[in-house]
Amino acid sequence: MSRFLGYRCSRCGQEYGADERLYVCRQDGGNLDVLLDLERITAESSPAAIGRSREPGIWRYLPLLPVDDPGHQGTPLRAVGWTPLYAPPRLRHALGLPRLWVKDDGRNPTASFKDRASAVVVARAQELGVERVVTASTGNAGAALAGMAAAAGMPAVIFAPMTAPPAKVAQLMIYGAQVFLIEGSYDQAFDLSIEASAAYGWYCRNTGYNPFTAEGKKTAAYEICEQLTLAESTQAGVGNGWLAPDVVLVSVGDGNIISGLAKGFQDLVDLGWIAAAPRLYAVQAEGSAAVYNAFQAGADEIEPVQATTLADSISVDQPRDGWRALQAVRRTGGKCLRVTDQAILEAMSDLALTAGVFAEPAGAAAHAGLRLAVAEGLLAEDERVVLLNTGNGIKDVASAMKAAGQPTVIEPTMAALAAVLAG
Ligand SMILES: *Cc1c(COP(=O)(O)O)cnc(C)c1O
Ligand SMILES: [Zn+2]
Repeated sequence: MSRFLGYRCSRCGQEYGADERLYVCRQDGGNLDVLLDLERITAESSPAAIGRSREPGIWRYLPLLPVDDPGHQGTPLRAVGWTPLYAPPRLRHALGLPRLWVKDDGRNPTASFKDRASAVVVARAQELGVERVVTASTGNAGAALAGMAAAAGMPAVIFAPMTAPPAKVAQLMIYGAQVFLIEGSYDQAFDLSIEASAAYGWYCRNTGYNPFTAEGKKTAAYEICEQLTLAESTQAGVGNGWLAPDVVLVSVGDGNIISGLAKGFQDLVDLGWIAAAPRLYAVQAEGSAAVYNAFQAGADEIEPVQATTLADSISVDQPRDGWRALQAVRRTGGKCLRVTDQAILEAMSDLALTAGVFAEPAGAAAHAGLRLAVAEGLLAEDERVVLLNTGNGIKDVASAMKAAGQPTVIEPTMAALAAVLAG
């Protein structure tokens, strides 16, 4: 664990040693950035060395992670990440973006981006020797923790709102987690889980609370650059380094994915493995737009909202990593975009129809944001743009049916078929 130097508060800059057992800053509750020994990483690793790794997932980036190899070969814990980076020809054409890419993180073991964080948190929990992991979740973080904990043989406790889509609740149950559905919001589940973890000594994975989640999520930034370099290998990378995109679009709830991506790209800039970090475009649902509101107002503090959106994974009153998310957007010269639930449903069918990617509403929100960004002229035609789908559409079939409409029911006869075909 010698690459892991300690923590620094993202708000006040207070530093803490690696042996401290804490989640957020003791002074101001700010989110903690994990500090890594970049000199050591430079001495021990390189893009070429990582390129030779035979790990088909996030563990190929072990030299850049603050945990040791967790083991569990031959389990889904080793299969997190290295999700496809598509070059979708018809979507590129439709949007007039010839260098558009779609990264499909719905292809993770539990079908969402959250596996990246949960795998790293389980690795950390093992090192700490804790007996039980816990998380609050709108559904996906819990499914991911339950799945990764099952792979590692570790008990998990999950708190989720009663309104979580049934497929996500089924995932929690089938992986054998102890599941508490809360008669209340995600934010209430969040607060309860923190109290419970303190009272019972459980290791808490909560998004935007545990500093290791962003360390897992940053692996998507590494992958995007490595995969882009492989895909465009006729063009030279940056010396011995990787190509970075110009823009990445991602949906935002708590803001931890976008903070993790920002950390990942910044790591690569600091290591000299990419030339510059991409602009990060944060997409929020109209009914859950706390980060967007602060960005538009030029404000430093984020005012909570009363979240209402069908995109359950980004339905958040008080973004727990909102401050870093806001900094990530501002620092990279990015934008915040706001989309309606109707636009999300349209984007869900458009992405499936045009790119063959089935996203849940929160994933499709990023595509709705992409369509808006194109309409508003926020992207140049020659830019490399990456659209990140964060969750699989199978997780929320009710919304998919809303987006897609109902199929035609007929009697099993040619006459019935012909009648329908005749219109
Ligand atoms: C969690 C999640 C998000 C948002 O991530 P935050 O870190 O909360 O901003 C987006 N899409 C899906 C599918 C998710 O599960
Ligand atoms: Zn602080």
